[in-house]
Amino acid sequence: MNENIMEVHRITNAIRELIKLCGDDPDRDGLQETPFRVLKAFLEYTEGYQEDPRLHLEKTFDIHQKGLILIKDIEFYSMCEHHFAPFYGVAHVGYIPREKITGLSKIARVVDGYAKRFQVQERLTTQIAAAMDEILEPKGTFVIIEAKHMCMCSRGAKKSDALTTTTSISGVFEERAELRAEFLSLIKS
Ligand code: ZN
Repeated sequence: MNENIMEVHRITNAIRELIKLCGDDPDRDGLQETPFRVLKAFLEYTEGYQEDPRLHLEKTFDIHQKGLILIKDIEFYSMCEHHFAPFYGVAHVGYIPREKITGLSKIARVVDGYAKRFQVQERLTTQIAAAMDEILEPKGTFVIIEAKHMCMCSRGAKKSDALTTTTSISGVFEERAELRAEFLSLIKS
């Protein structure tokens, strides 16, 4: 048998075992195709591993913009690495360029590339900021992520409205409170 087919078989079997452990019958109608669907879904949730998200930022523009550039409310979906439960929300990414500026859609792709992995929100935040700092070399970067964690909503503490906020700042944003205030007021407006 082809090696890939063997691999798929091994994994779908494991998912069948998990279904049994939870107390259901993997051979009943609605669940027969589920192990294969779960396998495909996991490959989609984690397709960020197939790319280096930093590369999206390599295409830069030579526009002279001195002030803050903010892309807010970038939607993302990620997977908590501790429970394999989704967490999702929005990222706000701001930077003050030195020379290089990138397209707004590229920043959304960076967020997506790091979100589609097994993640924790803190690391997602710092990875986005580090990519901005490394490739665009701005005067400063400010990233805020606000997310809901299904593992907090549906199990354990069951706090369904809890919103987790994480931030990462660098450069002039660390040094100058008025720039942080500008960023925060733009996010709220
Ligand atoms: Zn979790």
